[in-house]
Amino acid sequence: MQITSDMLAEFIKVSSDTIEKHDTEVTELDKTLGDGDHVINIRRGLGFLVEQSDEISQLEWADALKKMGMTCMSKIGGASGSLIGTFFVAMGKDATGKEMNPVTFAAAYNAAVEAMKARGKSDAGEKTMLDTLIPVANYLVENSATLDQAALLAGVKETAIKGMESTKAMHATKGRSSFLGERSVGHIDAGARSTQLMICAIVEAIEAKL
Ligand code: ADP
Ligand code: MG
Repeated sequence: MQITSDMLAEFIKVSSDTIEKHDTEVTELDKTLGDGDHVINIRRGLGFLVEQSDEISQLEWADALKKMGMTCMSKIGGASGSLIGTFFVAMGKDATGKEMNPVTFAAAYNAAVEAMKARGKSDAGEKTMLDTLIPVANYLVENSATLDQAALLAGVKETAIKGMESTKAMHATKGRSSFLGERSVGHIDAGARSTQLMICAIVEAIEAKL
């Protein structure tokens, strides 16, 4: 199945729905390790994206992703706003002039993760949303050319969940949770969980079409 940019409205909607469904849980995670505003920040961004979703869905992939990124950068507060905004703008830049298929998607997604790493001066193992995003990028780059779509999608979900869970044992070294030092160990990172929830919701929306 071809995944086209006109499906973005639905992907934004299912992302928003899953964040609402897990509002209390994710807020508790950010209260434990941070300041408790992560859902508020993500919700604000998604709210603007929902409002723009008809317009976004009519754009080509590259322009749609860039527009989403600019909206996230300007409308979401907190550390996550500029990080998520950077992610989508970089993904749009990499996608420019390319036809989207699993291989070009994997490359664009990987470029987005690299841009977020540079923006946040962070990497895997620091107990952030990158611990969900990086394993998924590696998985996509390794498997997008060989696996069929159903297997690839199932693997994305599994990898995102494992990545999110891996943050529990980590000692935070970036963001507000780093202020807790050793006491951050034993709790899942809010950004890793919200990111995993949205990735899984989007994958499930695609699976429903297969
Ligand atoms: P704030 O930390 O400003 O309150 P949010 O609560 O919206 O912003 O987002 C917090 C999340 O941002 C964390 O759970 C973590 O996943 C992510 N994060 C924080 N700093 C970084 C960083 N340098 N790189 C990547 N992700 C980060
Ligand atoms: Mg916060």
